[in-house]
Amino acid sequence: MSFAEIKTFLDKIGKIMGLNEKELDLLSTPNHVLKADLEVNGKSYPAFRVQFNNARGPYKGGIRFHPEVDEDEVKSLAFWMSLKTSVVDLPLGGGKGGVKVDSHKLNKAELEELSRKFMQAFYEYLGPEKDIPAPDVYTTPEIMAWMKDEYEKLVGHQAPGVITGKPLEQGGSPVRDIATALGGVYVLEEAMTQLNLEEKTVAIQGFGNAGMNAAKLLISRGYKVLAVSDSKGGVFNDEGLDVDVLIGVKQETGSVINYYGAKQISNEDLLQLDCSVLVPSALADMITKDNANSVQAKVILELANGPTTLEADEILYNKGTLVLPDILANAGGVTVSYFEWQQNQRNEKWDEGNIKKKLQDKMVTSFNHLWEAYNSNDLDFRTNTYIYAIRKIILAEKNNGRL
Ligand code: NAD
Repeated sequence: MSFAEIKTFLDKIGKIMGLNEKELDLLSTPNHVLKADLEVNGKSYPAFRVQFNNARGPYKGGIRFHPEVDEDEVKSLAFWMSLKTSVVDLPLGGGKGGVKVDSHKLNKAELEELSRKFMQAFYEYLGPEKDIPAPDVYTTPEIMAWMKDEYEKLVGHQAPGVITGKPLEQGGSPVRDIATALGGVYVLEEAMTQLNLEEKTVAIQGFGNAGMNAAKLLISRGYKVLAVSDSKGGVFNDEGLDVDVLIGVKQETGSVINYYGAKQISNEDLLQLDCSVLVPSALADMITKDNANSVQAKVILELANGPTTLEADEILYNKGTLVLPDILANAGGVTVSYFEWQQNQRNEKWDEGNIKKKLQDKMVTSFNHLWEAYNSNDLDFRTNTYIYAIRKIILAEKNNGRL
């Protein structure tokens, strides 16, 4: 969603919530838009850090390395981070960073230099109590480690809490690798119980970090994974797929389509399968007004960011599909990032069981608040989620005396 679309969307939500002009203005204006040009081997790469809102705590959000990064995109993503941290009640605000670069064309030394230059450009604005980046598209734990090291050199002291998503040895947290999928599964399980849905069949679009881990977790909870897909296409078997074999096939051949013993289907077919749960875990804008009417799933768990367009959302609501929106469904990632930051700040190391329990508490508590609201008005679940998040930001702004 472009930033112009976010403004239109905010106007719509503002009307439902009765927000005044000053409140809307504050919600739609980033606190800081920081820009720099990063020079590596004679080439210049535009870089951005948008600090959107910190009424509820330090800015938090990933850094993306992608050829299509621009200021508008980083601003939009920073806005959504403000809402995401609010939905799961983390004492954090929202921010995002990005560098316009095709990082696959850089060698390792250039990638490291670019990562360190990002820190050199923005370090005065970052810090464990100011703004805490994390990985995003095409940025890795290794890149986070370089950035942490550069920051520590620049400020002259240890500060592992300046960035999350680090390797375990550099102060990273257990569970971070599966956190997005696990958080989503906790939310899904609550929704299935509330809806009394006993049939546990699932189709998963996208088989990367989010989709593959969701498949593993759902199988271990008694779900039948009927179909999965990646950028090359999908596979379907109404008896269920063997997820361990699928993972091996994906790793060895680069795509799930080489799985033996299933029918090949397109990504479009996958969205329309007869199953109880659909898990979009790939790209934005996959469920649109053109295919929403054909979606048969009762529940959609949005592990991807923005997989459903606004028009599709309305169609799904009218036909009774429950959409668990991205800012709740995939908030497990930022939640475990927050746990990583807490461990760093307290110089502690938590065990896996403890982290999973804390994640479950956060996700279930947030879902329950939203479920109660959803059942007390005639708005769809997504709108209720946005209202819940925005109300908390407005309250914090008021308490801080900024409104
Ligand atoms: P990833 O790169 O690990 O995996 C993406 C998967 O999507 C790959 O299997 C790829 O083949 C597939 N894909 C690409 N184009 C496709 C298409 N047209 N149709 C079907 N599949 C396609 O990425 P990820 O980390 O799993 O992220 C997936 C989504 O989840 C993104 O929208 C991301 O923003 C969102 N998300 C991820 C995290 C996280 O912690 N990983 C957190 C929040 C949100």
